Amino acid sequence: MTKIGLEIHCQLTKLESKLFCPCKANYRDNEPNSNICPICMGLPGTLPRLNQKAIEKATLIAMALNCSTPEKIAFFRKNYFYPDLPKNFQITQLNIYGDTSIGGIGEITIGEKKIRITRIQLEEDPGRLIYEGSSSKNQITLVDYNRAGTPLVEIVTEPDFENPKQVRDFLKVLSDLLENLDVSDPSLEGAMRADANVSILGGNKVEIKNINSFHDLEKAVHFEITRQESLHSRNIPIVQETRHWDDQRKITISSRSKEGDLDYRYFLEGDIPWIKIGIDVQEKLKSTMPESIVSKKERYVKNYGIPEQVAEVLSSDKYYSDLFDESHNQTNAKEISNIITTDLMGLADTREKREQSKLNSSHLSDLADAILSGKLTRNSAKNALYEIIKSGKELSTIISELDLGNVSDKNKLEEIIKQVMLEEPQAVEESKSNPQTINFLVGKVMQKTRGKADPQLTLELLKKNLD
Ligand SMILES: [Zn+2]
Repeated sequence: MTKIGLEIHCQLTKLESKLFCPCKANYRDNEPNSNICPICMGLPGTLPRLNQKAIEKATLIAMALNCSTPEKIAFFRKNYFYPDLPKNFQITQLNIYGDTSIGGIGEITIGEKKIRITRIQLEEDPGRLIYEGSSSKNQITLVDYNRAGTPLVEIVTEPDFENPKQVRDFLKVLSDLLENLDVSDPSLEGAMRADANVSILGGNKVEIKNINSFHDLEKAVHFEITRQESLHSRNIPIVQETRHWDDQRKITISSRSKEGDLDYRYFLEGDIPWIKIGIDVQEKLKSTMPESIVSKKERYVKNYGIPEQVAEVLSSDKYYSDLFDESHNQTNAKEISNIITTDLMGLADTREKREQSKLNSSHLSDLADAILSGKLTRNSAKNALYEIIKSGKELSTIISELDLGNVSDKNKLEEIIKQVMLEEPQAVEESKSNPQTINFLVGKVMQKTRGKADPQLTLELLKKNLD
């Protein structure tokens, strides 16, 4: 049986500052080595100062994954040299004196599958190494410490996954959950990284390191299973080892033998005292927890009669569910959910497009109301939505500027219908024996009015004129 376990590193991108100093947690878009200070550079005489918000956000993640949350937590030094680590140690957590990490054992159910969480740790991210050079003989490595010390949460699972699809489903649920908790933006480059361990048929475990995106994680796991199966079929033993994910070639490469915890000479971080997170603090935090995706979905189905599938798509995306919650009332909720899931999600499908979009919640409720009152057809509403996203203008302005209003003037519509009947004599003839042909004629009227004819009225008038 195939067994896959994950170690997911997720940056707390929604925080203002790094884990132990006042430098910005958002290190992106800065000149290299400009978002640094003596603390995150580990200069002599500096001391770490723990970011309380990071403790709170990480605890929320633990709670959302149904993990136990110890009342006392501790930090440890993990000692090793690497150029991206200015202090020569990383401040992290370890469960050596009982459960002292931010989250203990937990579990989450994805469909029918239960995934057990082993632990959750809060730690600092190292800096970044950038490999450059014109040829393999002329390699240079640049180091950028802007990222050093940003808050990172490590989520470790038991080897409960049996195939890459279960891994993908879990990652989707996890990224939605982190976004919903407003702790992280998983779409940011490098915000989510992972290591995985894979074994087949009860054989040796192989660890894959350095998977820099969730997208590649599924590929890496798939590659590794295929590699091990191929070895097994040729009776070649599978060596227990650490392999490195090469994201250019999309393969895993043997890197080094695995170090154990002992090799890192862990010891308690003496510069940070044990932190008490009492039950009262935990209760208070729990009360600030945003509504879960599951409960949102249930609310949408129960209160507004939104179909299950639509409710699922809507609730799992924080950006859209926030827009929905701000815009709807009892009457237009279902229509708004339609606009969001059928049109808006296609028009604002990337982070950049969402950020540039000028749409707000009142635009959405105006649009839904216009459809419900027959002022706009769904087709015209889609055109208006496109304009709103671009310009942010009021719906009424867009309707008059683009002349999108429904053709619901009976005389005008009748004129167009008569014209269509003249142009399509064959269809008019056929419609006497085949009522389906009427739909064809309705379509023609729609074409002529650029989708603005009131469909109900068109049908009514067509039938009358065909008699
Ligand atoms: Zn700093």
